[in-house]
Amino acid sequence: MIFKQLFDPSSSTYTYLLADDASHEAVIIDPVIEQAERDVRLLREQGLKLKYSLETHVHADHVTGARALKQATGAQTAVARDCHADGYDRLLSDGDVILFGSEEILVIATPGHTPGSVCYLWRDRLFTGDTLLISGCGRTDFQNGSAEALWESVTGKLFRLDEQVLVYPGHDYKGRHVSTIGEEKQFNARFTGKTREEFLSIMANLNLAMPKRIHEAVPANLEGGGSPAPIAASAQPAAVEISNVSPRQLADKAREAGAQLIDVRTPGEFETLRIPGSANIPLDRLEPAALLARLGPHAPVYCVCQTGTRSQIAARLLREAGFQHVVHVDGGTNAWLAAGLPVERGGRNVMPLDRQVRTAAGTLVVLGTLAGAALHPAGYAVAALVGLGLTYAGLTDRCGMTLLFSKLPWNQSKSGARLPLARG
Ligand code: FE
Repeated sequence: MIFKQLFDPSSSTYTYLLADDASHEAVIIDPVIEQAERDVRLLREQGLKLKYSLETHVHADHVTGARALKQATGAQTAVARDCHADGYDRLLSDGDVILFGSEEILVIATPGHTPGSVCYLWRDRLFTGDTLLISGCGRTDFQNGSAEALWESVTGKLFRLDEQVLVYPGHDYKGRHVSTIGEEKQFNARFTGKTREEFLSIMANLNLAMPKRIHEAVPANLEGGGSPAPIAASAQPAAVEISNVSPRQLADKAREAGAQLIDVRTPGEFETLRIPGSANIPLDRLEPAALLARLGPHAPVYCVCQTGTRSQIAARLLREAGFQHVVHVDGGTNAWLAAGLPVERGGRNVMPLDRQVRTAAGTLVVLGTLAGAALHPAGYAVAALVGLGLTYAGLTDRCGMTLLFSKLPWNQSKSGARLPLARG
């Protein structure tokens, strides 16, 4: 069997790829449209034929990749009949069985989060969508959700499954990947030790904001997944995928997901001002392979610097090393400050590296020109060389002066301490 848990960092959605070894037939559960190219590339790399794209429900926080995958692979799309959605090839009901190769998936209707929510049971794995999350459950305050129905679905159906069954949720915001029915019966914050009435009271008082993309996502998902851009027929789209977030989105994500935020500026810059919760690994000391071994390939990693240049390089290096969820923070700490978000200051006052470089380059050009006019023509050569260096840096994004300045004593750490990174 082939099994992969994939992640979309912008919506914290898990997508699952299951495949039968012998026939190479595959099924994807809860694809995300922005990740459709990734999914198609993965299918091609593994030599798999996608038979079905399955939805656990009509999502409100992201647009499904179902239609994009259908266009690219010819797969059939499926959603529960009770979702009352159009544009899917197959409408599923409780007890239906989905076949791929010699494998089978059982459809379990679990209304509650939405009336058409289902879970998929495959071998020892249960794909729960938003019905049952790790130590939580989906909300029931929109899309005709029902806390009463959710209680029945979870306690009356899912908690009656074997306790060893693995629970693979549709989302997780804290970097967790999998649980079991036994663990959820023992530790789920919404259900464990709660009466039905207590659960209903919790669900009635969550007071959550509406998902940001609900007005786009629900209509698109009710029609099978919107109108995706065609995916390149090339078997090997080689582009390295790196997502971008604005500082405001990062602030939301960091709170929700416990994501790793790596600041690749110099220690001097970091100790002057930093985003709370960030860890400092200067770009010239970044060891992607070592970091991969420490955090694992599925840890969501966010890269930040002063303006977004160094962090782009870091993000590319991390992605190439094997990190699956690398996110670049647009505009860096400058944009973070401009957005009025909180920072920590460490009592130092080191000028940002790019400003140090610009100041030094400008001073050298002025002095070289003055020396050329007043002392010796060689002064002009100094100015010209600096200009050439800046042009090269602009064209290649590589700046020797930045590298040189990053080594200077005032850009180094005074404390010598680096904030630890924990496995997500
Ligand atoms: Fe949902």
